[in-house]
Amino acid sequence: MQPAPRFAVRCGRLYDGTGDPPQTNVTVIIEAGRIGQIVANDEPTDAEYTLEAASVTPGLINAHVHLEFSGEPDIGVVLLTTPISKTLVAAANARRSLEAGVTTVRDLGSSGSNAIELRDAIAKGDHPGPTIVAAGRALCMTGGHGHFVGGREVDGPWDIRKAVREQLKAGAECIKLIATGGVLTKGAIPGQDQLTEKEMRAAIVEAHTHGLRVAAHAIGASGIKNALRAGIDSIEHGTLLDDEAIEMLLHHNAYLVPTIAAVSCIFEHASDGKQPDFVVRKASALYEAMRANISRAYRAGVAIAGGSDAGTPYNYHEKYAYEVELMNTLIGMPPREALRAATQTAGALLGTEAGVIAAGRPADLLLLDGDLETDTSALRTPRRVIKGGATAARRENGSSSMVCG
Ligand SMILES: [Zn+2]
Repeated sequence: MQPAPRFAVRCGRLYDGTGDPPQTNVTVIIEAGRIGQIVANDEPTDAEYTLEAASVTPGLINAHVHLEFSGEPDIGVVLLTTPISKTLVAAANARRSLEAGVTTVRDLGSSGSNAIELRDAIAKGDHPGPTIVAAGRALCMTGGHGHFVGGREVDGPWDIRKAVREQLKAGAECIKLIATGGVLTKGAIPGQDQLTEKEMRAAIVEAHTHGLRVAAHAIGASGIKNALRAGIDSIEHGTLLDDEAIEMLLHHNAYLVPTIAAVSCIFEHASDGKQPDFVVRKASALYEAMRANISRAYRAGVAIAGGSDAGTPYNYHEKYAYEVELMNTLIGMPPREALRAATQTAGALLGTEAGVIAAGRPADLLLLDGDLETDTSALRTPRRVIKGGATAARRENGSSSMVCG
């Protein structure tokens, strides 16, 4: 790789990811892959070149993706593919994410070590894609949610400790547990408990011992509370949470990753006839509860981290901006707060320095034509995506498609 140049980005409005009002008419200096000084536009810089944009935001962070899935209406088709084609699909989805402005993702469950090895290939510069934080295989009870898409079936505290160690050995940087049933697994009831509190506690103690954070897929209130009592770091989905669960989220300083697009995309395409009936039925039953409950959690002050469950039906990796829009339109988060969830807060959950534009942070940023606060859809089509201080993708004038480099 060539040494990263020193350059400048002149911003009409700089949204730094913290939720603060934008700084206007400032220039961000980028050097050696990191953010340098932020100076007024009229101050001279010795940058090699200068880019300009109406708005600048941090690169987006999607805290919940499945790189092996591509938004197929029936996820069952993925089962018919070979391990190699799954790897190729994951690599293509990584590239699509980056081109759409997603500079970091957390993969919360793939078969084998696909996402882990893809992470390393991207870090080496062999393949375009976001920075990946990978969980390896999700850990579920025997026959539990996700067992058919590469989940590691575990039963009992020692078996789950062994499963955590297996992911660690494979190179995982976080762990995913399945606390309740889910939408996409036939027969799994979303509100019902799956892994027990005791099993999750054993997994979390083991993971935390090795410095790995733990995420729990949890839709039902009882499973959410089991995961929180066991010491979980983030609740994924959280759809059927109640007031007690909100209090526990606050008390435990746990994050909520609401994956609003997952249920919404299934619901919006309910009548297209391409999705299994049981999937449409379960998602439709959750839709209204999701809107009400996640809004309540947000208003109560729960830390919301952006994550879309990208890869699930019609929920494409390159459409992460839709999750940000839904946080605004469905949950009532102001645009800057929704952006913060998808940048600073998601970055904090992942334990990365990315997600905030400030001196010393990784230079992951998006150059936008519009203004986020008047039009959240401005995030859909970044003009340029900068990752690690280099242009990762840019849109030619008038073109709807992005090209790498
Ligand atoms: Zn998921």
